Amino acid sequence: MGHITLEQITKQFDDTMVIPPLDLTIEDGEFVVFVGPSGCGKSTLLRLIAGLEDVSGGMIRIDGEDVTAVPPARRGLAMVFQSYALYPHMSVRRNIAFPLRMAGLDAAEQNRRVEDAARVLNLTDYLDRRPGQLSGGQRQRVAIGRAIVREPAAFLFDEPLSNLDAALRVGMRLEISELHKRLKTTSIYVTHDQVEAMTMADKIVVLQGGRIEQVGSPIELYRHPRNRFVAGFIGSPR
Ligand code: ADP
Ligand code: MG
Repeated sequence: MGHITLEQITKQFDDTMVIPPLDLTIEDGEFVVFVGPSGCGKSTLLRLIAGLEDVSGGMIRIDGEDVTAVPPARRGLAMVFQSYALYPHMSVRRNIAFPLRMAGLDAAEQNRRVEDAARVLNLTDYLDRRPGQLSGGQRQRVAIGRAIVREPAAFLFDEPLSNLDAALRVGMRLEISELHKRLKTTSIYVTHDQVEAMTMADKIVVLQGGRIEQVGSPIELYRHPRNRFVAGFIGSPR
């Protein structure tokens, strides 16, 4: 499950309305990409969904339930941070198990989930290493592992590949897409990179100034951009 609806949500920082009233539905199992230029509100929107920021108005539902006032740890979502968010002094195993330890799961259940995640991510042979002994791609997989073990209703990714070099980024994009399909979860992926949006998304949400310019599949946006901004941003030739 992972059906998310945003109903007239807003976010104001001091006097500035960063997100004017916004409506969006994300279907269960969809890979949705929020794309737009730097400062357009992508991270803010993701943080509102995650509960890391409170909305100024409106309602957020997950699988029909109003979670607007529910704290992040109880929304059933997992945010994937960039690889540098790992704990350098902990083994891969302890890094991946971290959210489970916080949630108070018993050791056997922690191990089961960590080993399942490691298998899916090809990290089984690296569980006793420290992050510093891994490649950039492996570190990113550990960060994803830490999200997987929580068995979330949806994954929230905020520019997870922006630290990686171009070649590695292409490989990790494919890995994240495959993982999404294999785990059959909902994913929301934030990026300012049009190529990432076009290659990964079932549905693209184009943002500018906190507003949704257009929502559609990559091919719909490419063929029928609603305005010049979308056309220019998606790179349609007309
Ligand atoms: P993006 O992720 O698309 O680059 P952000 O969501 O980080 O954009 O930021 C959107 C806007 O909100 C920017 O103008 C930014 O300066 C502002 N903003 C974000 N977080 C805060 C905050 N905690 N306090 C004040 N302004 C903020
Ligand atoms: Mg951002």
